Amino acid sequence: MADRASLPPGGSTGGGIASAVPDEAVPNEQEVAMAWRAARSLLVLHQQLQAGAPRARPPATGVDEWGLIGDAAHDPTSDHTPHDFPGWGRDIVTAADFPNRPDLGLDAHRVLDDIRRSRDGRVKYGISNGQMFSSYGVRGYDAWTWRPYSPKNGDKHFTHGHLSVVGDARADGTQPWQTIGAGVVADEEEDEMGASFGPINIELEGFTSLTIPPVNGGAADPRPAWLNFCNDTGSQIYGLRIWYTRGDGSWSPLPFTDANGLIAIRSGQRVTIGLPDGTGGLSISRKAIDADGRVVDPTDELKAYGGHLTCAIERGPVSR
Ligand SMILES: [Zn+2]
Repeated sequence: MADRASLPPGGSTGGGIASAVPDEAVPNEQEVAMAWRAARSLLVLHQQLQAGAPRARPPATGVDEWGLIGDAAHDPTSDHTPHDFPGWGRDIVTAADFPNRPDLGLDAHRVLDDIRRSRDGRVKYGISNGQMFSSYGVRGYDAWTWRPYSPKNGDKHFTHGHLSVVGDARADGTQPWQTIGAGVVADEEEDEMGASFGPINIELEGFTSLTIPPVNGGAADPRPAWLNFCNDTGSQIYGLRIWYTRGDGSWSPLPFTDANGLIAIRSGQRVTIGLPDGTGGLSISRKAIDADGRVVDPTDELKAYGGHLTCAIERGPVSR
């Protein structure tokens, strides 16, 4: 929200004004910085450490102690700085910090030692308590062994642990890390895989308009999604008109329906329709069924099914 205030006057609505002052239309640093994302394995690490050491969650620890992206003053070569990785993605942060608070159940060195011993293929290196290890050997030290760490800036990482992950798609793996909280995260992931919202009432009149998280669209949470129907209408067949939008202001019939977005569904029949990538909105309205079984607009004589009708949206696991 803060960056909104820095847009040029009328920049978000008045295109003419924005183009008249091109210099001001250049995105500011904050907007540029918003494009980054973290390797997903690092989000899993934070999630599971907070699950495994609940006393160490913010606000007992500072949110800034759970750092991903570096501040402007940060070394541009740091893994906390977003980098482009050809073949994987752009503007990705591949390092996470977490507090070292044994008094709150979060011993950063133990966590990193667990990860070191697991030889997880996502690891690049870890640092804590004046020591570091890496998944590759360096002169005098084998891979996966601790070695002394004393950087020029003097930060030997006694207050926090640091984990860097590899710069390729393996780092998006969301399997739990072999340390505290692994079981908790695994359980939560199973729940998430079944995550759905609904049932959602389909109104008798007008359009039932549904805003949904963009299908396979979010940087941090890209998931496939399906629209489900399964209603008890006695012996009646019910008709629906279902259109979708990717948020660009245009609507299209949902795949699996006809060219006008119409579909007829029997009582107790489950219909599951995969939502196109990018879908951010759905519009559903009730239609009538004529004597030939066709889906038609309701009239005074031929009414839409008048009883209770619902749908539900199912979201799949995060796409890797
Ligand atoms: Zn760090």
